[in-house]
Amino acid sequence: MENKHRLNLGLQILIALVLGIVAGILLQGKGEFTSTFLQPVGTIYINLLKFMVVPVVLFSIIEGTISLGDIRRVGSIGWKTFVYYMSTTAVAVIIGIAFATLFQGFFPVLQTSGLTYEAKTANFMEVIVAMFPKNILEPLLKADMLPLILTALLIGLGILLSGDAGQRVGESVKDIYAVIMKMMELVIRLTPIGVFCLMTNVVAVNGASIVSSLGIVLGVAYLAYITHIVVVYGFSVHLFSKMGLLTFLRGMAPAMTTAFTTSSSNATLPLTIRCSNELGADPSISSFVLPLGATINMDGTAIYMGVTSLFIASCYGVHLSVAQLVSIVLTAVLASIGTAGVAGGGMIMLAMVLTSVNLPVEGIALIAGIDRLFDMGRTTLNITGDATAALAVSNWDRKAGAKKSQKK
Ligand code: ASP
Repeated sequence: MENKHRLNLGLQILIALVLGIVAGILLQGKGEFTSTFLQPVGTIYINLLKFMVVPVVLFSIIEGTISLGDIRRVGSIGWKTFVYYMSTTAVAVIIGIAFATLFQGFFPVLQTSGLTYEAKTANFMEVIVAMFPKNILEPLLKADMLPLILTALLIGLGILLSGDAGQRVGESVKDIYAVIMKMMELVIRLTPIGVFCLMTNVVAVNGASIVSSLGIVLGVAYLAYITHIVVVYGFSVHLFSKMGLLTFLRGMAPAMTTAFTTSSSNATLPLTIRCSNELGADPSISSFVLPLGATINMDGTAIYMGVTSLFIASCYGVHLSVAQLVSIVLTAVLASIGTAGVAGGGMIMLAMVLTSVNLPVEGIALIAGIDRLFDMGRTTLNITGDATAALAVSNWDRKAGAKKSQKK
């Protein structure tokens, strides 16, 4: 029954996506109509998802930490996840840079004089300091993800270390989390409607014209996104989870479609958790790994940063040295950690990457008009990468558990 329902939902979402594209094409030039009548319905859906994000992140991380059972296990899962996230992100920027270099000759050279872009970026140390909240309610009210994760982790560790009292609180947390998961199911059922409305509006508003000159840059980014999925995720799920890439992608389709249309890893989190668990991730691990991933693991964003930095450099006639390319890889990994899992988050952090190689941040204005189209793909990749980690870490943990019990 559950399986049938899942298939239905996945199929419904895909059909909604296709219908949205068709409706968007039919409504070309009627962007005002779609923005007035369809976008608000999409916004209601996104708001409902966002409404769920703070309780989901807070309770899933507390619950995940408690379920891991002891602090050493939290530490061991934590560092494995972190290493997995950072290495796949570094590979992602390299793939982005490689494709951009390959196709650089075809990039249009756009006029750069008179461009303005107001950078809102923070430097890396500021991002780190901002992770530590000075007030327990602030991260909840502002839905500030990194501080929220830290708060949840601290509460979880507190519960783990508090003996009987901790156990009692832990039981209540588990109950509350079960209720939150149910609420999440209700919101998720609305996904096909949200996806249809959002997609129709994106296609109707962005039309074919805006893509024209930047189409090649967009195409290169998507080529790199797809390569990353096939090579890196294909390798990961095959090697670590003994799963074919197609099986994995089929299971992830509802979450990927939602990410594509909402352009927000945070908003997609409830679906990412659901799909990963259905694919066999250990719920206690995915409830820890996925909220963290939605916040710090952004492979798609890293690819986008690699491709667009090279594009902006070529518009300014700057030839980047190998040392500068290495610097782009490093800063893009750091910038993707600092990127918020919301629509447009990556474009703000692109300023940090450009600054690291002395490229003018005004260059961002060159791509700002179609950032949403880059964003749809990069968000899809971001959440897919998180799910591969949840599966891989779950399997490593199962193996470690099996080894331990064999020794006994
Ligand atoms: N929209 C992306 C996400 O939510 C972040 C970005 O803009 O790159 O994952």
